Amino acid sequence: MIAELHGVSKVYGDVAALRGVTLDIGQGELVGIVGPSGSGKSTMLNMIGTLDRPSGGTVRIAGHDVLSLTDRQLSALRANVIGFVFQQFHLAAGVPALDDVADGLLYAGLALRERRLRAYDALERVGLGHRLGHRPHELSGGERQRVAIARAVVGDPRLLLADEPTGNLDSRSGAGVMGLLRELNAAGTTVVVITHDRDIAASLPRQVEMLDGQIVKGAVLT
Ligand code: ADP
Repeated sequence: MIAELHGVSKVYGDVAALRGVTLDIGQGELVGIVGPSGSGKSTMLNMIGTLDRPSGGTVRIAGHDVLSLTDRQLSALRANVIGFVFQQFHLAAGVPALDDVADGLLYAGLALRERRLRAYDALERVGLGHRLGHRPHELSGGERQRVAIARAVVGDPRLLLADEPTGNLDSRSGAGVMGLLRELNAAGTTVVVITHDRDIAASLPRQVEMLDGQIVKGAVLT
């Protein structure tokens, strides 16, 4: 298992965002997280991504119990194991694609030349080998999300977490981004993707459905 959540709860003030969530995700899976707005999807993804600690229960990522790690160890775990993609792309304004992706390796202890070579490879992988010098405002929405994905995978993470990656894209660009996530999955990366799109969700091998902070379907791989 790459991710194991057991009886996980998360409380924000008087809001119970997660209420006893148990979920196993195996290495190599492609999992869709679905459910209405406010049902706890992002909170659960943040738990898997170790961006937040549970209020109760246990979260194990790549065999490590998140609650037993220091902040420093958690950062190292994230840097080595996990890549993130968000709806809003989060690219640095005015920064060329190659540099933005290379910056994803700033903490990997690699020389600048090596970082740039790997960034080039990652941009090739997402089909943007011809857009290395383009800045975000010179790219389409679909291309921006591809740069963000290249940045997320440049360090070869085992686990890629995507929070509504197609939410800001037209359906054609969205389909392209989903195709790319499938390719990365086929090449061995475990992918967990939150989506509002029923067609996208239906096309995924496994769906986990949330409602009111609980998993109501798909907690166990069938
Ligand atoms: P979803 O991703 O399904 O839309 P979220 O996980 O974002 O749902 O939110 C679940 C619930 O937790 C919501 O009621 C939301 O308002 C609340 N929540 C999420 N994050 C926070 C936070 N940082 N502070 C306070 N409440 C939060």
